[in-house]
Amino acid sequence: MVCLAEGGHMKAMIRSRSIVAAFTAWLVLMAPMAALAQTQVDLPKNKYKIEDDIRLGNEVSQKVEREFPIVNDREASNYIQNVGDRLVDAIPNEFRHPEFDYRFKIVNASDINAFALPGGPMYVNRGMIEAAKNEGEMAGVMAHEIGHVALRHGTAQATKQSNPLNQILGIGAILGGAILGGSVGAQLGAIFAAGYFLRYSREYERQADILGARILADSGYDPRDLANMFRTINEKSEGGRAPEWLSSHPDPSKRYETINREAELLRVSENPIKLTRQFLSVQQKLRNMPPARTLKEIQENAANSGNTGNQGGSGNAMANGRYSRNVPYPSSRTRIYSSGNWIQFRVPQNWVEFENQSDVWFAPEGAYGNQGITHGALVGVNRTNQRDLSRATQEYVNSILQANSYLRRTTNYSRTYIDGRSAYAVILAGRSPVTGQTEYALIYTTMLRNGELLYVVGVAPQSQSNTYNRSFNNLVRSIQLRD
Ligand SMILES: [Zn+2]
Repeated sequence: MVCLAEGGHMKAMIRSRSIVAAFTAWLVLMAPMAALAQTQVDLPKNKYKIEDDIRLGNEVSQKVEREFPIVNDREASNYIQNVGDRLVDAIPNEFRHPEFDYRFKIVNASDINAFALPGGPMYVNRGMIEAAKNEGEMAGVMAHEIGHVALRHGTAQATKQSNPLNQILGIGAILGGAILGGSVGAQLGAIFAAGYFLRYSREYERQADILGARILADSGYDPRDLANMFRTINEKSEGGRAPEWLSSHPDPSKRYETINREAELLRVSENPIKLTRQFLSVQQKLRNMPPARTLKEIQENAANSGNTGNQGGSGNAMANGRYSRNVPYPSSRTRIYSSGNWIQFRVPQNWVEFENQSDVWFAPEGAYGNQGITHGALVGVNRTNQRDLSRATQEYVNSILQANSYLRRTTNYSRTYIDGRSAYAVILAGRSPVTGQTEYALIYTTMLRNGELLYVVGVAPQSQSNTYNRSFNNLVRSIQLRD
């Protein structure tokens, strides 16, 4: 009996101990759950429809892209879109608007800045990517901007200020009118100064930080990298000249703390994405491009020239160049250019390169700008329905003649070879509107295995044809195809 009693007691002890154990286990289980109770973000009041955000963003993005040069490099464009897509996939369900079209472009401007328009178009400045210490810092700013878009801060702000939508859409209208009127810079400058899209209330900035941090954590980044980017920006802006992006976002030190505190509430990957090979490659590529101007300089220049600075049709980085009378001769030293493992060739070492979707341009300093190149070469592929080389070549040459009305064909098509393949060569000539001198364009073409036309065009003033012919011939002779 005693034993039983004792046994009874023992049992009770055991039971109570197991309750304690269970309670402890429950605590252990609850601890990470409690840590996941991230700060709640409430969607601000908004009287506008989703379609209004989309319409507003589309209208303004057209003006933005007419006004500011977009980096056209394929690798960089794909990269920024991929990072953006990864972040967009991590937008919490309650803030998802499937109708939004999040698209990411790099503006060829030096300011450490980025901005997003309602409905999804986002612009990341080249200066931002060049300054970021790693992909996480760059993604941090993008996530913050995605936060503004997902929370519909543009139209929410208009709701708050009881602005009629027409007035916001009027921003688009003003920009459009200004481009036609030729005083773009001043007006666009005024609009950015008014800060419709950049200067939100402190509360909106806090929301975008909180949501941005959450998006970062859920997409494999460390939310603290958004906070770190503030430090990077401070380090990079010398002489206390705070970048616009910061000055429009008050209290950087407080935000630094807020984001880091929020990060502690989030489940952050133990091995977050920091330095990636792609980030380094794109960052290096951007750093190697000719120096970019600031957004303000671009606006002012556009205002002065009445030109959008974006009409080269051949890469916007190139459009930022300035033509000079003293263009250096092609250096006798060459370097190898290769692309996608299917083509490589040699170009003079002092030729800068500008890559586009379908072609790559090479020119020495002083020989490129918003009207293309005056000295140098371009190599590219042309999609064609023509099956034979002769017709595909004529089709391409006609398109060149149409786009450059000052050029005429001065020779017949003569047969030659590129890497052992049947090829054509033809010369066009005319008075260059840039240099005022007779310019000639030496065109080589051959067919690729996929039915596309490969073209090589050498451009130079006729007065320097001897020197440049040698460079063009060397380039064409060095082409190796593995398509
Ligand atoms: Zn912001």
